[in-house]
Amino acid sequence: MHKKIGILGGMSPESTIAYYEHITRTYTERSGDYGYPEIIIYSVSFQPYVDWPQQERWDLVAQGLGEAAQTLEAAGADFIVMATNTMHLVFEEIQARVQVPMLSLLDAVGEAILAGGMRRVGLLGTQYTMEKTFYQDALDRRGITVLVPDAKDRQYVNAVIYDELVAGQIRDESRAGLIAVISRLAERGAQGVILGCTEIPMLVSEADAGMPLFDTTAIHAEAALRYAVGR
Ligand code: GLU
Repeated sequence: MHKKIGILGGMSPESTIAYYEHITRTYTERSGDYGYPEIIIYSVSFQPYVDWPQQERWDLVAQGLGEAAQTLEAAGADFIVMATNTMHLVFEEIQARVQVPMLSLLDAVGEAILAGGMRRVGLLGTQYTMEKTFYQDALDRRGITVLVPDAKDRQYVNAVIYDELVAGQIRDESRAGLIAVISRLAERGAQGVILGCTEIPMLVSEADAGMPLFDTTAIHAEAALRYAVGR
């Protein structure tokens, strides 16, 4: 029996869909049948999770997501994945509120970078992901150096995420803008770039960027699938 996956989602709905698709489709592509793991999705109302970080109320974020995680646990989830990079800032606080394990996106991404033989990577994400130190600290513990864009580029990337991608808007000029940010990171010595926001892979692919990219949505969803099926 597969483990039942709990997805803590809605941040935003766009990437929650991508987790669901990855898990179910990849399972069927590999096994040829429809015996994919059961999935429970708790999709939060996103607005408070946009507002609270702006007000630096991470205590409220942790409380709200902790309660959502408890609901997933009570509904029978055997483990939980949080379908967002940013909210891993309060991963430990949420994990402390449930008995079932939570699979960290940061662990999965760190392993993927090391498996790719890289030690110096760029990071794109929300302003919180790029400017707070939780991401860099987690990767630093694995011996990986993280480069973030300069202040102007960070502001640009954050605006593309919150003004366009979380609403499902895909714009060619924003793709070009993100590729320019990625090439500036490459010029500073990044061997690859982490698409450290679960919506960015909707806009930019490795083929667009011409360098290795770490698609955190696919990496984390894949980790959830493998854990659920016991591989
Ligand atoms: N999904 C985004 C991320 O991976 C940002 C949305 C949010 O959680 O604030 O960080």
